[in-house]
Amino acid sequence: MTAKLIKGTEIREQILEEITAEVAEIKAKYGKVPGLVTILVGENPASISYVTLKIQTAHRVGFKEVQDSQPVTISEADLLALIDKYNKDDSINGILVQLPLPKHIDEKKVLNAIDPDKDVDGFHPVNVGRLMIGGDEVKFPPCTPAGIQEMIIRAGVETKGAEVVVVGRSNIVGKPIANMMIQKGKGANSTVTIVHTGTKDLAGHCKRADILIVAAGVPDLVKPEWIKPGACVIDVGVNRVGEKVNEAGKKVAILKGDVDFNAAKEIAGWITPVPGGVGPMTITMLMLNTLKSLKFKLGKK
Ligand code: NAP
Repeated sequence: MTAKLIKGTEIREQILEEITAEVAEIKAKYGKVPGLVTILVGENPASISYVTLKIQTAHRVGFKEVQDSQPVTISEADLLALIDKYNKDDSINGILVQLPLPKHIDEKKVLNAIDPDKDVDGFHPVNVGRLMIGGDEVKFPPCTPAGIQEMIIRAGVETKGAEVVVVGRSNIVGKPIANMMIQKGKGANSTVTIVHTGTKDLAGHCKRADILIVAAGVPDLVKPEWIKPGACVIDVGVNRVGEKVNEAGKKVAILKGDVDFNAAKEIAGWITPVPGGVGPMTITMLMLNTLKSLKFKLGKK
């Protein structure tokens, strides 16, 4: 293996320790801790496990954590009223609505009802606009792209002037990370190309990339011959390709990324594994955004 592994699991630990220390400092000085509410509608098992992980992480870093579980039958009006209640609650700095929502509820309407200054997921149109403007305007970068950028920075990869190719143009990964990498500033200042299913020469674009960020959701889409020797490869893809029994005798999914990892690690300079790469960064950045939200309120940067 020639590539250096960028391990999200290790970077997560560093960042969570930094957050815990800062929360303790703010608590001692101001008597306040960041407050995060997670609103879960219904009993979707995947949503329950995501929410559980978020709650555990919030506890670990010393946040006030409110778990608000609502029945699948809740009306859209009642859910909007609940969001309004948390928008007005001074002890809450971040509001998180776990998706997907039941079909009778308009997801967009619900997400847009969150106060943009408590939208720690960074999906509200106001925060998307702030991200586009860049610089000091940015409050809450969306968590997965923020995690990707943080991994690139902490790995010491040069981004200024780098050719960055992003595979995928989703609103939650592709578009925001591309937007973040073109901004002037730390961990950015790159020249960015976005490729997608309408792109004519996918391989040709990928081959130019000093930093290749792949978020397509297609296992092994990126072939080793598409990778420039020494490039930094960030594999965002999480694809369930089967099941296995783990050491505890439990059935678990076999996960694969969008990059042919075994071959790519012999060519790339840096690479993220799947699992254990980008995945652990998302909840970590959610915690960072919630801490930031309290700091904005306290007038700290
Ligand atoms: P998405 O909304 O399905 O978007 C996928 C994008 O990839 C689309 O823009 C699509 O192009 C493009 N694409 C798909 N197949 C392609 C191909 N053969 N050639 C070129 N482009 C192709 O997916 P997403 O939400 O961004 O997620 C992408 C992957 O990242 C998934 O595996 C997801 O599970 C994973 N993910 C991981 C995390 C995490 O680790 N924390 C977070 C979010 C997502 P078109 O627009 O032309 O259709």
